[in-house]
Amino acid sequence: MIYDVVVVGAGFSAIAMACNLIDALPAGASIAIVGDNPGFGRGTAYRTELHLHRLNVPAARMSLFPDRPDDFVEWLERKGKRVSGADFASRGDYGLYLRDTLAAHLRRRQCRVDFVKAKATGCVERYSGSFGFQLENGDEIAGRHVVLCLGLGNAPIPAPLEGLSVSARARVTRNPWRLSWLRRVKPQERICILGSGLTMIDQVLSLRAHGHRGPIHVLSRRGLAPLPHLRHHATPVAIDIDALPQRLSALTHTLRKAAKSGDDWRQVMDALRPQTQKLWQALPPEERARFLRHALPWWNIHRHRIAPDVFDRFQALRDAGTVSFHAGFLKAVGEADGGLTIDYRPRGRHEMMRLNVDRLVNCTGMERAGIEHSPLLQEMAGRGLIQPDPLGLGLTVDAASRVIDAAGKVQPAIYGVGALTAGRFWEITAVPDIRGQAQSVARAIAGTAPH
Ligand SMILES: Cc1cc2nc3c(=O)[nH]c(=O)nc-3n(C[C@H](O)[C@H](O)[C@H](O)COP(=O)(O)OP(=O)(O)OC[C@H]3O[C@@H](n4cnc5c(N)ncnc54)[C@H](O)[C@@H]3O)c2cc1C
Repeated sequence: MIYDVVVVGAGFSAIAMACNLIDALPAGASIAIVGDNPGFGRGTAYRTELHLHRLNVPAARMSLFPDRPDDFVEWLERKGKRVSGADFASRGDYGLYLRDTLAAHLRRRQCRVDFVKAKATGCVERYSGSFGFQLENGDEIAGRHVVLCLGLGNAPIPAPLEGLSVSARARVTRNPWRLSWLRRVKPQERICILGSGLTMIDQVLSLRAHGHRGPIHVLSRRGLAPLPHLRHHATPVAIDIDALPQRLSALTHTLRKAAKSGDDWRQVMDALRPQTQKLWQALPPEERARFLRHALPWWNIHRHRIAPDVFDRFQALRDAGTVSFHAGFLKAVGEADGGLTIDYRPRGRHEMMRLNVDRLVNCTGMERAGIEHSPLLQEMAGRGLIQPDPLGLGLTVDAASRVIDAAGKVQPAIYGVGALTAGRFWEITAVPDIRGQAQSVARAIAGTAPH
């Protein structure tokens, strides 16, 4: 059969698409969701069982639907959770909310929705005007419309590991989201975490919850860690995006000045947040590239903040010396005395330094994974169906999230949703942005929204 829509992916974006398609499509329509992850809907972010893994966005902004902003808070109330709209709920609870909301949509049954647990590895255009996806298990699935919701995958460790023995390689965790690695860690082991963003914070807290008490070294290029949200609400200052300069240096100067004139810099970041897509799109390509080269680490720690009590917990570990930070560039991973050696060049210096540890954990994150991590995207690029974003931020799409092919033509039936579309939208990795995009794409497919 040919489905009306094939959604590829198994995280938040795919589930937001499924719910919005069920809302928008006429009765009798058919949808297939192809995902290689058993926890459909929970994706990387929301399948955690650890209560201390918290959302980094207040509950009041985490509804699945932009036009029903209280949906998540009402779910929390129904479940008897003592979490207000201003609080940072647990990510596990958010995963359950997604599952319940999807189940409620499926119960309405006006559409046929099939979940296919498989990895899509290739895609071809059929003469019928549909697209056929090859699945890893040898099957094929076809749809008249396609929505790619693949997330960004994990960036690889930036050093060769091929020379390591099998036992040394077993001490390297390439994907920390497979939480089973925590069970193998002994309490006093020395750990090196590569990357110092939100994933690192999660993994440090998970290690502590699993009884780990040994030293943790965090190595990242700049050694910057995420900053906390304020405990109280501070009203965002007014910022006129159209009046901001388009050169990065002048832009950051203006924003720093605005931050100094208010009570707290977060008022500037929060004022930018709903307008960041517009700001990004107004920047010339060379200024966007400059931003990625020079400003990205600072943007990340100010923009992707953590709950204040999570910050306090983490800071206490830094103050106690359990967690130590190193700013530098990983050069080589070797082995010695049954453990691993981590050679790095400290930032701004020429001589190399070495850490001797028992384990290395890759938390370099997903910021700029491009399309290299995805055999499906590489295959589609090889066929000219998609065009990689020139700055390595996923796919090239138009303003309606329709994919642009290698010849520069809009593919009217292939959409990208979520972080894959960061090249055009930049601010499209979190729920408050993806949910709006998912709704617009579903309505466009249903023909109820003008392009
Ligand atoms: C640890 C963490 C915490 C976060 N916390 C928050 C938060 O508090 N608030 C917030 O708004 N945002 C948060 N985010 C941002 C988060 O990325 C988004 O909210 C959202 O989960 C992204 O979902 P996604 O579906 O686009 O991507 P993902 O969750 O990455 O899902 C993509 C899915 O597609 C599957 N897939 C990929 N390729 C294929 C293929 N070829 N075939 C089949 N399946 C495939 C993958 O296995 C994966 O399951 C967090 C992110 C992380 C990693």
